[in-house]
Amino acid sequence: MATPIPNRHLFIDGEWREPLLKKRIPVVNPATEQIIGDIPAGTAEDVGLAVEAARRAFTRNKGKDWASASGAVRAKYLRAIAAKVTERKSELAKLEAIDCGKPLDEAVWDIEDVAGCFEYFADLAEGLDAKQKAPISLPMETFKSYVLKEPLGVIGLITPWNYPLLMATWKVAPALAAGCTAILKPSELASVTCLELAEICTEVGLPPGVLNIVTGFGTEAGAPLASHPNVDKIAFTGSSVTGSKIMAAAAQMVKPVSLELGGKSPIVVFEDVDLDKTAEWTAFGCFWTNGQICSATSRLIVHENIAEEFLDKLVKWCKNIKISDPLEEGCRLGPVVSGGQYEKICKFISTAKTEGATVLCGGARPKHFTKGYFIEPTIITNVTNSMEIWREEVFGPVLCVKTFSTEDEAIELANDTHYGLGAAVISNDLERCDRVSKAFQAGIVWINCSQPCFCQAPWGGNKRSGFGRELGEWGLDNYLSVKQVTQYV
Ligand code: NAD
Repeated sequence: MATPIPNRHLFIDGEWREPLLKKRIPVVNPATEQIIGDIPAGTAEDVGLAVEAARRAFTRNKGKDWASASGAVRAKYLRAIAAKVTERKSELAKLEAIDCGKPLDEAVWDIEDVAGCFEYFADLAEGLDAKQKAPISLPMETFKSYVLKEPLGVIGLITPWNYPLLMATWKVAPALAAGCTAILKPSELASVTCLELAEICTEVGLPPGVLNIVTGFGTEAGAPLASHPNVDKIAFTGSSVTGSKIMAAAAQMVKPVSLELGGKSPIVVFEDVDLDKTAEWTAFGCFWTNGQICSATSRLIVHENIAEEFLDKLVKWCKNIKISDPLEEGCRLGPVVSGGQYEKICKFISTAKTEGATVLCGGARPKHFTKGYFIEPTIITNVTNSMEIWREEVFGPVLCVKTFSTEDEAIELANDTHYGLGAAVISNDLERCDRVSKAFQAGIVWINCSQPCFCQAPWGGNKRSGFGRELGEWGLDNYLSVKQVTQYV
């Protein structure tokens, strides 16, 4: 039986509130193109109420507010949220699958990661108590100094649709662990599980206003949040185009931002590899989550001596995987998130053909589907460095291929992009992997794999992929301000 979409309002000050303009946005199942529910469309006035609530929660009663609660107290709430997420794992995974088209098995991993991430930042929240007043060694004995790490304040969190609840968690968990209060604005294309997080917050008794969730369109709810004068920081994940708008809005108030943006990440395959294993990693690195991963290694740079045999294996992989409704058992590739995204990807492919590239496999909706935003895994060869398909983020199941003959040439091709998020190198020569890792202009490097991600390790990019790091201790630091105290003794 189909999982019903719970009917929710906005979550402000610990209560469900109808959006002031009473507008709703339909939720479309991308596998069937059917409307399966709706979500509230908040606007500037709703954002204003949420910001006021978050500010009250941050500064409510001296000593009783979220900011001055001990890390251990905040950790208790985060662990309770993790436990509830685990309890509702299969329901949340199904909601994610029908909302954004993610294969159910992958959605289950995501929800497990959500719980793990809340647990991890609960540990860091506890650890923060012991790190306060860390002494600094000074060159004069007449002074002593120490450092306080304090929550930054009220934070606006704006997130995308590709990992709806997980991307929200990467921000909500560290922000709350640090003692900040927050307003989360998820993507209008996939907000369903984020609204369930609100329900979980009420179940665990999170104090009102600590986390507020305002769903809605980017221009109607995201932009007013980014430019709100009473928000102390914006943490954003999404496209580079929107990231630049957010940076411009924040600049008016010299408001700090952290930006996790798009990518066009390379995977460099040398000739000494196990071709079968490497084909698996290459396919996984580009087609996982239907190709909609910011760090997808969507540019394959393969040694010319193995290119033909390797591509044969990849094409075989693409032809054999199960493309189906994400809820069907064994689904490896579901639909992309929306009609708009489907059109955009098809346009990328047709432009590449017009420019002279070859579609080696895929390139269209699989024949057995008449409905749904499905696109076959697609491999494109005969691309030049200047083609749009090689340079721009497609954000769909499309892999572009170029060959190389020397290590220097491979590195030059890998770095010839205005993005700098991820990069992978596959070779049995670990010294070479080490050299290439250092040469990559990227924030995340994988050796002999692609895409594994752990909440203990920093995540983020360089160049137009943004700045700031999420996850790990760096993720917590995103939401802390550093205060030095110096005393004359
Ligand atoms: P998007 O930029 O269209 O939207 C992201 C969020 O910003 C949404 O919530 C949207 O409503 C909001 N928004 C849109 N316009 C806005 C505005 N003017 N002001 C404020 N908010 C606004 O991105 P998307 O299509 O949702 O997500 C896909 C993009 O996200 C891809 O480029 C992908 O690479 C990137 N991404 C990056 C990472 C990372 O870790 N670097 C992770 C996931 C996704």
